[in-house]
Amino acid sequence: MDMQKYLKRQVADIQPSVIRKFFDLASTIPGVVSLGIGEPDFSTPKAFCEAGYRSMLAGKTGYSPNPGIIELRRAISDYLAGLIGVEYNPENQIVVTVGGSEAIDATCRALLEPGDEVIIPEPAFVSYAPCVELAGGVVVPLPCTMEAGFKLTPQQLEAAITPRTKMVVLNFPSNPTGVVMSQDELNALAVPLRNHGVLALSDEIYAELLYDGRKHASIAAAPGMQDLTILISGFSKSLAMTGWRIGYVCAHPDILRGIYKIHQFSLSCASTTGQYVALEGLTNGHAEVERMVAEYDRRRRFIVRRFAEIGLPMCEPGGAFYAFPKISVTGLSSDEFCEQLLLQQKVACIPGYGFGQSGEGFMRCSYATSMENIEAACNGIERFVNSLK
Ligand code: PMP
Repeated sequence: MDMQKYLKRQVADIQPSVIRKFFDLASTIPGVVSLGIGEPDFSTPKAFCEAGYRSMLAGKTGYSPNPGIIELRRAISDYLAGLIGVEYNPENQIVVTVGGSEAIDATCRALLEPGDEVIIPEPAFVSYAPCVELAGGVVVPLPCTMEAGFKLTPQQLEAAITPRTKMVVLNFPSNPTGVVMSQDELNALAVPLRNHGVLALSDEIYAELLYDGRKHASIAAAPGMQDLTILISGFSKSLAMTGWRIGYVCAHPDILRGIYKIHQFSLSCASTTGQYVALEGLTNGHAEVERMVAEYDRRRRFIVRRFAEIGLPMCEPGGAFYAFPKISVTGLSSDEFCEQLLLQQKVACIPGYGFGQSGEGFMRCSYATSMENIEAACNGIERFVNSLK
């Protein structure tokens, strides 16, 4: 019997993530070296875990307040004031969510009416488009090119805005390109947003992972943009806490109230123990974060040098833990390249088309894995590229 017919149309129409497809294929091949995974290879630092353990022993094992424990919301508020100079009231402008993922989904569900357009600069993180579509919105992809540094321009944004545009998604440092935008560049993007009253969903989950002395910039800090910005972040990447599922969303109180309604009725609250772990990491974890960032940076420098030697051009990643080299120079599509690389050299990378049309011709390589794996993967990629010459 065709049970698929019971699915809601938007759900049936969603295509499985390319990342998943590649992992499924890679898992059938023994001895694969993977640059596919977008999660830290570090475990959550012990001191953070111990704070969670202490909270459990102290009996804090029940639901937390729906928006999150106030200590964590205060710490997030202080952190953002220090990082980007924007003040969020912990009482009514911050909700702790089940990862940044819930924050993205709840924001789309709270804001989008059927037919509302959301501009997504591509290549983009895989969850944005499905979340927009599931909420009834219409995705308007905005292709960004390597030549333009994978950055959208104010002119491009202005041209894409229509009377139905409700929101643009910004994600810097970017997954999958590692590209970062400066505050001046974001201030320039803010002009068309302000002029048309368009919201920015700013996913800043990689804000701590910046290299070469870069300072994090946010659209929320652009003149007149705080009220128009929904800032999303979390601790999965910066504190190596993917499994704890702790993120957050900050917005104008009127907007946050809507997002909070969805959070309250669908999730109740994020994990209580996880919140204590994040609180410890955010307040006392600077040395650990620095240690992890220094290690990512060492790997980043290595991978940038190796891809240059192999002859794969790319924008130098300034943040996150991804490199996004251009593989179309070999004459293969990203799907062909990654599949043959996997089968012939047992190296798993993600084909760029999984991040949108403008990702075609590229592949995403995560350097959130050991130096040993990165070296082996680069050697495999080099042998494969040479075999195509
Ligand atoms: N945004 C981006 C850009 C991401 O790469 C990820 C994780 N891959 C998330 C959000 C969601 O992370 P989490 O739900 O673990 O906080």
